[in-house]
Amino acid sequence: MDRYAVIGNPIAQSKSPFIHTLFARQTQQDMVYDAKLGEPGEFDDLVSRLRGEGYKGFNITAPFKEDAFAFATGLSKRAKLAGAVNTLNFTDDGLVFGDTTDGAGLLQDLKDQHVELRDQRILLLGAGGAARGVLQSLLQAQPKSLLIANRSVDKAEHLAQLFSEFKGDCELSFTPLDELSQSFDLVINSTSAGLHGELPQIPAAIFGSTTVSYDMSYSAELTGFNRWAQSHGAAKLVDGLGMLVNQAAESFSIWRGIRPGTRSVYRELRRNMSN
Ligand code: NDP
Repeated sequence: MDRYAVIGNPIAQSKSPFIHTLFARQTQQDMVYDAKLGEPGEFDDLVSRLRGEGYKGFNITAPFKEDAFAFATGLSKRAKLAGAVNTLNFTDDGLVFGDTTDGAGLLQDLKDQHVELRDQRILLLGAGGAARGVLQSLLQAQPKSLLIANRSVDKAEHLAQLFSEFKGDCELSFTPLDELSQSFDLVINSTSAGLHGELPQIPAAIFGSTTVSYDMSYSAELTGFNRWAQSHGAAKLVDGLGMLVNQAAESFSIWRGIRPGTRSVYRELRRNMSN
């Protein structure tokens, strides 16, 4: 039986074992998937040891995505651009292939949720790893404009430069959070402010009566960011649970060559979180 795992720290809260176990059952794959706690500075040793025990691949979550990037002996183009890896796959010819599936996961979820990107005005809040991992996908969907807003504006500027080759006709720009003033068609929150029970310090004017608020974090109830968006008139609220399930499906298809259906798994996960 083939073995896979997610590696992170902390890891007890991870939904990945639940998701991949349902994928495996649905697609009748003979595999098991568990969670491994990594310790800072010991990532390479842990992966090498588990590989020696027969593991075929890993999902990688915080804070090891850059370690996984360095560990890989082959990288997808999107992983090179993201500077991070969330999927490791040990190939039969001995390669440690690193990829990142967050951008594909976000795009598929937006599609599932009927959120339009083409010709839309998008605000991306945050310029950390998650923002970097989804920018290529967002730009390739041909929005009218994409504004990257971050507390530390130099990081937003860096991302705007790094991804300018993908902008096509899109107006790609950056700003500090406190200079935001107009409303957008789609606001994507990729900040980690919610993890600390905070909201990014931005004006509510970013929400108009047709704005979609997409928060990459997720919770059983409305996330703090989406509650705030709702109270300021956002038309539609989506959290990052669908992105999580879809990025997992992408990883699964890299390992197993088969893409599982996500909708039933999403529903089951949502139900499980509410209990
Ligand atoms: P990083 O640590 O790389 O980046 C954090 C970002 O949040 C930075 O831009 C930082 O700004 C900003 N930030 C943090 N606190 C605040 C605050 N109080 N006010 C304003 N901005 C703030 O984290 P990641 O990019 O890896 O992750 C971000 C979020 O995305 C997390 O909540 C994570 O769970 C979620 N995520 C969800 C996924 C999914 O599948 N649904 C996948 C990946 C991530 P600054 O640069 O100024 O410090």
